[in-house]
Amino acid sequence: HRRARTASSMAPSTGKPAVTTDSVINLDHGDPTMFEEFWRETGDAAEVVIPGWQTMSYFSDVTNVCWFLEPELDRQVRRLHRVVGNAAVDGYHVLVGTGSTQLFMAALYALAPDHSAAAAGDAGEPISVVSTAPYYSSYPAVTDFLRSGLFRWAGDADAFGGDSYIELVCSPNNPDGAIREAVLDSKTGNGRTVHDLAYYWPQYTPITKRAAHDIMLFTVSKSTGHAGTRIGWALVKDRAIARKMTKFVELNTIGVSKDSQMRAAKVLAAVSDGYERRPEQTKETKTATPPRLFDFGRRKMVERWSMLRAAVAASGIFSLPEETSGFCNFTKVTAATNPAFAWLRCDREDVEDCAGFLRGHKILTRSGAQFGADARYVRVSMLDRDDAYDIFINRLSSLK
Ligand code: PMP
Repeated sequence: HRRARTASSMAPSTGKPAVTTDSVINLDHGDPTMFEEFWRETGDAAEVVIPGWQTMSYFSDVTNVCWFLEPELDRQVRRLHRVVGNAAVDGYHVLVGTGSTQLFMAALYALAPDHSAAAAGDAGEPISVVSTAPYYSSYPAVTDFLRSGLFRWAGDADAFGGDSYIELVCSPNNPDGAIREAVLDSKTGNGRTVHDLAYYWPQYTPITKRAAHDIMLFTVSKSTGHAGTRIGWALVKDRAIARKMTKFVELNTIGVSKDSQMRAAKVLAAVSDGYERRPEQTKETKTATPPRLFDFGRRKMVERWSMLRAAVAASGIFSLPEETSGFCNFTKVTAATNPAFAWLRCDREDVEDCAGFLRGHKILTRSGAQFGADARYVRVSMLDRDDAYDIFINRLSSLK
């Protein structure tokens, strides 16, 4: 009896309660629970067991710039980028963070001018942080929450006139899925860019080129769906910037959970195995063909986007961004973009607050206003579980 109680008190939470046809459907956050179905089917391919004596030291590799990065995570990050071809890794430093959110803050810290060393005449003003609207709602929130003297949110990059700035480029973009490039010219002035490539994976978009920017951010949250593991990584070209970003993580959390890094490494390895392991290897281990995450993800996203477009057509009061497509160097076929969020506009004249309107129908979304855009728009997560997504689609199609 006692053992049973211990087991249940130790059971991990699944995060969200089950939904029924009259539940409130929460698609406000981009919680990637859609991927649970895939990982449930993978047996022990992504399972980790950690003995009590392991992962106790603060340190992972004291010879590395990022001294708390587990070498196995470094290897698996590089391997997966080589498999997918979405980002260059040769000549880059890999840094690990508690989610890519921590590395985003680390990048601001590293790119802000060091006023203590600045030339005379430097007013020591915080550097402006900008991104083209609609921009990811966390950018302004995270930039300003500690009222830093080093950097300050300055809004829409398209409306920015200064020459000293950090431009955040999110591609495919959260919230609207657009493929983006920097709009400010960093060759003139003191501009720096940070590329947030959280969604640059084959389930969401064709991989049209190998990205090779100065700072690129990725996360398991959106690539494999393991948001709760809280692991992100940065690919950084410049050693001094890599050192400064590492310093930020050191001052902020001393390092990053090794347990999580080991789990992330195992998960990334399972993804790469799906595309690299030869059939004879799989026969030996008596497992079926290794599971293929991007095939699963793309199939789900294609299905969900077609359901959404049909529901929008049936309703008649909404519109969506137009579908774009391109040749994917990873899958070797032409594919449409299937963004992780729908950027939905309510076209009804009398509805000025689309999020409020949908809330009245028990659908929670994030208002366009939070992304520096019109409140007639909302962002809807496309990555929730099937049951919630199906109810959302049914409700949306009946709205008039
Ligand atoms: N960048 C973008 C564009 C995102 O959408 C998210 C997650 N919503 C993140 C970064 C943060 O991801 P993480 O969970 O790794 O902190």
